[in-house]
Amino acid sequence: MSDIHSAAKPLYDMEKTSDFLVCIDSDGCVFDTMEVKHKECFTPNIINHWNLQAISKYAREASEYVNLYSKDRGLNRFPALIKVIDLLSERPEAIKRGFKAPNIDSLREWVKIETKLGDPALRAYIQKHPDDEILAQTLRWTEGVNKSVAEIVRGVPPFPFVVESFEKMQDKADIIVVSATPHEALVREWEEHDIAKYVKVISGQEMGTKKECIAIAKEKGYAPDRVLMIGDAPGDYKSARANNALFFPINPGAEDESWQLFFEEALDRFFAGSYAGEYEKKLIEKFDSLLPDTPPWKK
Ligand SMILES: [Mg+2]
Repeated sequence: MSDIHSAAKPLYDMEKTSDFLVCIDSDGCVFDTMEVKHKECFTPNIINHWNLQAISKYAREASEYVNLYSKDRGLNRFPALIKVIDLLSERPEAIKRGFKAPNIDSLREWVKIETKLGDPALRAYIQKHPDDEILAQTLRWTEGVNKSVAEIVRGVPPFPFVVESFEKMQDKADIIVVSATPHEALVREWEEHDIAKYVKVISGQEMGTKKECIAIAKEKGYAPDRVLMIGDAPGDYKSARANNALFFPINPGAEDESWQLFFEEALDRFFAGSYAGEYEKKLIEKFDSLLPDTPPWKK
């Protein structure tokens, strides 16, 4: 196996020691980091590395819509970047200011064929396409984002009731992190707040999509009704369902209440086998109503 393809080895090597598996997203789910990461790190680097200074207001709106305030919230950074550029390419105000979207077909192609959408896979792909300026630009951008995150994001503790929930479930469930964030940032953030000790594996974007990572862990032999994904984005829900796993939503804007409900009620139901069905359905309906799928400027 190459370095890229052995990235998921810790997941394959994980030992099942409980009947229950709990998969947890990180940004916006465990940590209140979505705003600071996107507003201070992702968006400024999009504007800088993609030369969007003249339309920065619209670039900012598009980036925040895609990454924070739409059903695409939590999407891996590379497909999210494509969505931002596509939204700008059809935004009249941007066009009036002379914006011409770059031809990002090579980036689209890579995102289509690769599932380990992280810097190592991108670097390997660039080695095969050394003259592709868009891929090089994408790498400078993602490295810029990582640098900003390392510099800026610190001192953001887990939401209330996260640690209490870990304490409550650690003896009954195998717990893993399933996130589209780079592994190095995840380890830094989970160790900073002393919660890495609760999880068996921290899987970041280099290990594969969330759907793939849940599938690899689930293969260890957990029954479908004993696998739970906790997340704050529709993509987390879809990744769970693609594996016939249950889903507990951390509602954007009401994270504290969600974790309190999880700690006081939902987790007990999951262990007791009474989480699936009406109870889960109601939570997911509420969650689904919170994020739009049309940008506010298109209404
Ligand atoms: Mg998230």
